[in-house]
Amino acid sequence: MTHAEILAAAGLTKTDLAGGTLAVHSPIDGAEIAKVHETQAGDMPAIIARSQAAFRQWRDVPAPRRGELVRLLGEELRAAKAALGALVTLEVGKITSEGLGEVQEMIDICDFAVGLSRQLYGLTIASERPGHRMAETWHPLGPVGIISAFNFPVAVWSWNAALALVCGNPVIWKPSEKTPLTAIATHKIMERALARFGDAPEGLCQLVIGGPAVGDALVSSKDVPVLSATGSTRMGSIVGPKVAARWGRPILELGGNNAMIVAPSADLEMAVRAIAFGAVGTAGQRCTSLRRLIVHRSVRDDLVKRLAKVYAKLPVGDPRKAGTLIGPLIDIGSRDRMLKQLEKAKAEGGKVHGGQAVEGVKGGAYVTPALVEMPGQTATVCEECFAPILYVLTYDTLDEALTLQNEVPQGLSSCIFTLNLREAETFLSASGSDCGIANVNIGPSGAEIGGAFGGEKETGGGRESGSDAWKGYMRRQTSTVNFSAKLPLAQGVEFPV
Ligand code: NAD
Repeated sequence: MTHAEILAAAGLTKTDLAGGTLAVHSPIDGAEIAKVHETQAGDMPAIIARSQAAFRQWRDVPAPRRGELVRLLGEELRAAKAALGALVTLEVGKITSEGLGEVQEMIDICDFAVGLSRQLYGLTIASERPGHRMAETWHPLGPVGIISAFNFPVAVWSWNAALALVCGNPVIWKPSEKTPLTAIATHKIMERALARFGDAPEGLCQLVIGGPAVGDALVSSKDVPVLSATGSTRMGSIVGPKVAARWGRPILELGGNNAMIVAPSADLEMAVRAIAFGAVGTAGQRCTSLRRLIVHRSVRDDLVKRLAKVYAKLPVGDPRKAGTLIGPLIDIGSRDRMLKQLEKAKAEGGKVHGGQAVEGVKGGAYVTPALVEMPGQTATVCEECFAPILYVLTYDTLDEALTLQNEVPQGLSSCIFTLNLREAETFLSASGSDCGIANVNIGPSGAEIGGAFGGEKETGGGRESGSDAWKGYMRRQTSTVNFSAKLPLAQGVEFPV
């Protein structure tokens, strides 16, 4: 399919694609594919006011009925999966199966949220006073601002929106300025679900297009009580304090520097497959991409040899072509940052295999993935570079491996490959991995939506998606009802008046 055919199949019209100020380029070949209209920062107060008005209606709609809207969204996404997946590939450069996988993730979270709409459970709590009943109830909070990154241009919205909507909150989405087209196409899918639903309030789901200035209007507004921001640690360091300063609730999903420990007993064949997908899948542009390999000295040479063999024949090129496993980086700037990072690693004693710019499709930023043997965990290794660079470090004791694993500033995803129960359980224990995600005999990326997703330290501490992450989108109310004819005070306090 041509670029124009992919855009049309995803429902994008001439008005969506032309006449605006924001140029959109496909990373596949660098071609300009649209000039999108941007939201003006001056329009943001009215947009937020519309969301507040929608909230006043939506919060009183029964949660299972709110779930019906998300069920319809899931149906519309199923129907649009192929077209939206192809658009993700065109706008972000993901290989076909990963583009489709991203839409599947949206469908999965819709299914999860529909079930959740009948399970927003509170608690009853034993009261210390006779004739009293204590309970805990969950209520909606209000408009949820969603700022998303380029690398999961649509899934991150759905993780937040599906939960926020069943929890009774409207959403305002500001996607990355690099990926407005997938957002516009997704918004149209949402509008189809809203039309079928019938009586949702106007302004329940809004989309704003632009860069940090438009995002800042959401970050700074007291009328946006929850602000979910996915992106770099740099962005989070600006956004987090601003939201906190106005007493809003930030959900921060920031950068990672994810590691795999490979122990002497590891099944190396399995480890190699997990390493390849973790480190070079999505061209190393996942927040959970594998960036550090911490290998026991006894298996290091064997593992590096096996990896070098696999790396040498990884197909780099047009992500639409069957067989390609590594598509382009998002843009030339990203490629240049990768090459610069490799120079820094070399200067710190690193031995670099691969990591060259190659011509996949003319105009795109294609690279071969890099495997870098490092003498230790240097300053460069501690930084997240959003590209397929994998640093190899060596350890002798599990304590040493855990120290290396935990001593970077980020705390998103981690894993160990071992057949030794003691090592596996130590890794998962309080003195093991300090990350939000810790896996055994599974790579660090490709999380299922059923678990809470997020990380510690500079990854921001936010949780989205499954488990009880929904509680982040609601306020908790503790209530005590006195059905007796007396008024006893808590803690036995006497106060005769
Ligand atoms: P980025 O920080 O450049 O941009 C992310 C979003 O933040 C964009 O929408 C951008 O417009 C907005 N933004 C930037 N500065 C802002 C400001 N001052 N105020 C308001 N909004 C602002 O990130 P990116 O390059 O798009 O994405 C890559 C980064 O995202 C990586 O660090 C990656 O690890 C991280 N990421 C994290 C997760 C996670 O769940 N932890 C998921 C995906 C990506």
